[in-house]
Amino acid sequence: MKVVKFGGSSLGDAKRIKIAAEIIRSDKTSRFVVLSAMQGVTNQLIEAALLASKGELLYKTIFESLKQLHLDTINQLVTNNESFTLKILIPMFEELEEILHGIELLQDCTPRTKDLVMSFGERLSCQIVSFYLSSIYDSVEYIDSRDIIKTDENFSSAAVLFEESNTLIVNRLANLSRTYIITGFIGSTLKGITTTFGRNGSDYTASIIGSALSVDSVEIWTDVDGVLSADPRIVPNAYVIPELSMEEASEMAYFGAKVIHPYTLHPLIEKKIPCWIKNTFNPSFSGSVIKDNCINHEPGTITAIASIDNVSSLNIIGSGLIGLPGMTSKIFLVFAKLGINIIMITQASSEHSLCVLCRTEDAHRAREQMETDLKESFQSHYLREIEIRDNLEIVAVIGDKMKGTPGISGRLFSALGNNKINIQAIAQGSSERNISFVIDSSDKKLAINAVHETFLRPKDIP
Ligand code: ASP
Ligand code: MG
Repeated sequence: MKVVKFGGSSLGDAKRIKIAAEIIRSDKTSRFVVLSAMQGVTNQLIEAALLASKGELLYKTIFESLKQLHLDTINQLVTNNESFTLKILIPMFEELEEILHGIELLQDCTPRTKDLVMSFGERLSCQIVSFYLSSIYDSVEYIDSRDIIKTDENFSSAAVLFEESNTLIVNRLANLSRTYIITGFIGSTLKGITTTFGRNGSDYTASIIGSALSVDSVEIWTDVDGVLSADPRIVPNAYVIPELSMEEASEMAYFGAKVIHPYTLHPLIEKKIPCWIKNTFNPSFSGSVIKDNCINHEPGTITAIASIDNVSSLNIIGSGLIGLPGMTSKIFLVFAKLGINIIMITQASSEHSLCVLCRTEDAHRAREQMETDLKESFQSHYLREIEIRDNLEIVAVIGDKMKGTPGISGRLFSALGNNKINIQAIAQGSSERNISFVIDSSDKKLAINAVHETFLRPKDIP
């Protein structure tokens, strides 16, 4: 048994939907099908809600074009669709129109309302695809995942209540002769209020369902050939990694390699369910598999390079950091209070300064808040200054095989040194699976190519 998930790009129009349907049909083991909204639809729904909340009537134009897109798609897929369109699609659009009108009247769109608006994308695409599939073969059932995935009330990035959800999933998807078409991205609270898992959350839905049903594999069908050794826009000879471990893939997801939603692997790790990344535009290509036991890499090589841009560093300098317990905790508290995610931290053992890296948009407000909250430490000269550097890039070199292999950092930093790249901070987690370093954004291309050339030359291509 298998869960297959198709993203928006695989559902761009009627033609693409037919290709996806063929992939589903030709593989008898893929009985649980999770779908995203049609391409671009979520963005348009958000845009419509935003405009409505500002009282801008342009939202109506977006609404009309969304309606047209879905009606055109069903017309192109199934000729005989009147009753489906009247009974299912039109009432959904009427409801959406009313909600948008409500937002316009209130001039307010809370995260809760926004989640409800966004949920229409997946509900519409799944209704359309299940109707189409049932016109070409038997036993297809539409599943609104709000009925089977329960979450907390953290709208727009809800946490799954696994115990409740797993029972519902197992009970609801129990008919082994059916093909279930399941809405990605959405769930509901115990009271039944619609929630979402955050943008691109449909991957996560696929793994939640796969794990609950203990399937043999999960397949994520997207528009790239698999997980790449580096961003191909930066490294022209980046290649598809045939196999990588769950940990490596999680590291990469964290570093913004946009292949899968970062939470996707969590439900799969415990049950050791492999996750394939496949390309609907190139279905015969094997893709990448992310799995538990992955021993194919050359010893001593790394697996991939990933990076995060638009990062700033805050260098917090002062004697108060030397041997004085508690200062770092006061500093981190400020970040926590502002809800700012710290991406990386370094402190040399001289303890004279602490370097905290976060998104550029967060850095300046973090400094202001620290200057207020830690005023006393500044007045008593325990803290001297907080220096901000913008336009930085965190680059991460990732690979399970780095663990216990001497010489990797030597090769890494020589490669950077030979290219005269200045490194501003370095961190290696004790998992030894990731070495991260901070450089000026302007050095990004040179640095990533130098590292790729050193460790992932074409001769190393597995
Ligand atoms: N439709 C949602 C989004 O665009 C979820 C997904 O595509 O996975 O974010
Ligand atoms: Mg999407």
